[in-house]
Amino acid sequence: MTANFDCIIIGAGLAGLSAARKLNNSGLQTLIIEASDRVGGRVATDYVDGFTLDRGFQVINPGYPELRRLNALDGLDFHAVKSAFINAQRDQKFEITDLLNSRLATVPEKFAFAKFMLSRNITGTLKNYSSSFSNFYDNLISPFFTGVFLCEPDELSAQINQQIIRTFIYSYLTRKLPGLPTGGVTRLAMNLSQGGGPILLNERVTKISTNQVTTKNNRYRFRKLIIATDYQAARRLIPKLAPMQFNFSSTFYFSSPKLSSKKDLLVVNGDRGLVNSGVISNFNPNYAPADKSLISATFISKSVNTRELKRQLGKIWQIPTNEIDFIKGYQIAQSLPKFTKTKLVNSNQISDQIYLAGDYLTAPSQQGALLSGRLAAEAVIRSVKVI
Ligand SMILES: Cc1cc2nc3c(=O)[nH]c(=O)nc-3n(C[C@H](O)[C@H](O)[C@H](O)COP(=O)(O)OP(=O)(O)OC[C@H]3O[C@@H](n4cnc5c(N)ncnc54)[C@H](O)[C@@H]3O)c2cc1C
Repeated sequence: MTANFDCIIIGAGLAGLSAARKLNNSGLQTLIIEASDRVGGRVATDYVDGFTLDRGFQVINPGYPELRRLNALDGLDFHAVKSAFINAQRDQKFEITDLLNSRLATVPEKFAFAKFMLSRNITGTLKNYSSSFSNFYDNLISPFFTGVFLCEPDELSAQINQQIIRTFIYSYLTRKLPGLPTGGVTRLAMNLSQGGGPILLNERVTKISTNQVTTKNNRYRFRKLIIATDYQAARRLIPKLAPMQFNFSSTFYFSSPKLSSKKDLLVVNGDRGLVNSGVISNFNPNYAPADKSLISATFISKSVNTRELKRQLGKIWQIPTNEIDFIKGYQIAQSLPKFTKTKLVNSNQISDQIYLAGDYLTAPSQQGALLSGRLAAEAVIRSVKVI
């Protein structure tokens, strides 16, 4: 027998979970169908020999409006990461708030940056603006935000840059600092999966037809459908969607003997090789066994030389290379959609019945994914009420 739902959501990443919460709260009968064996999509964690390894270094920013709206961090043992970081190329320490008040820039540059941040009318890529505040860009924005966007920020839409830089400044000014929950970032997704209705795991949708989705074993009928998969998977289901570019990233994890707790700043490297490195267990001590430290190395080049990486880490953290042991590496081909323009997809509606949700619709972040899920759910609710 085929089960019937007001709305089926394909994908239990942050976009799908956010959509499900909204729909469930408005009384619609929903079902999430997820291909993998867990919720969270790209927000995922593995546990190896007592270490907590997030699949790619990522932090959770409690300043994100959608996280606050969903009370998504309630009950988590959340450890904030300090607001300072070190630019290894220049051996200088910075705070994100230095973006507002820095000795690095001339007065005209400060005005140009403030004007950019406050402007409502910005177009094109950040390259159109960054030459007017080049010291800020070279010393702070490029080295730090390359680790956020996983490419040079000035290749991306100026508006997306403005939006994300604003959320960081907001979170640092209000001391709602980004951080890591005990148990890994997966705990955020597990929290969000509460209160959104039933979730079927290990069930990949292979076909969409009128009012019905097909998986290997079953068929499910819907009045409305939200495709909340990553973009590549959405294109396999809806072939008319246009191709899109993505940013690749790798995070390799290493262990070392316990390092001083004073080594608690993120080191940004400011080149296209190693983007950043942190002693993750100094951000949240529960990420490593008591006598060890967990070190991350994130980079965006596709080739990896583990021996060279260890040499770089030894230099940054001042430890002998032979005390650094490789644990596991993650190479993620489609880490983030590349927002070379502000809108990559014009509409989240495919037809009267089918809607899209996912970070590629809004912004390349947890906030973007959650927002896209809510917007798709609101569109569904509006259309169901009209019928
Ligand atoms: C390495 C890395 C670092 C990051 N760092 C940060 C950070 O520090 N801060 C930040 O805000 N954001 C960060 N992000 C971005 C953030 O994680 C993503 O933007 C967000 O998780 C995307 O969520 P989503 O729901 O749009 O898509 P996804 O997480 O990709 O979820 C899609 C889901 O759909 C499922 N699916 C796919 N096909 C099917 C099918 N046919 N049937 C059923 N299910 C299917 C998948 O299994 C998956 O669970 C990072 C991302 C990566 C990869």
